Amino acid sequence: METGNQHGSSAGCLFCHKSHPTDSCSLSVLDRIRIVSEQKRCYKCFDPDHWSYKCQKPNCPNCGQNHHEYICLALFDPISYKN
Ligand SMILES: [Zn+2]
Ligand SMILES: [Zn+2]
Ligand SMILES: [Zn+2]
Repeated sequence: METGNQHGSSAGCLFCHKSHPTDSCSLSVLDRIRIVSEQKRCYKCFDPDHWSYKCQKPNCPNCGQNHHEYICLALFDPISYKN
């Protein structure tokens, strides 16, 4: 059911599955976290087959916690979230 299929199935954004690189996704960090959480994927590599506490990937380089830097709240600017 795909047109213009490329190698592999992971071309495009890991969060919204559109055709941009994951690191240029326009979703906010909070939206990314919500997506990963809802889909029960690993917080470190976004693999659906294991939890982040079982993941062998390194911790976040920004804050050292158990998640990928793409969903790091240290990158989230609380000023832009004010009402
Ligand atoms: Zn995206
Ligand atoms: Zn993982
Ligand atoms: Zn972090």
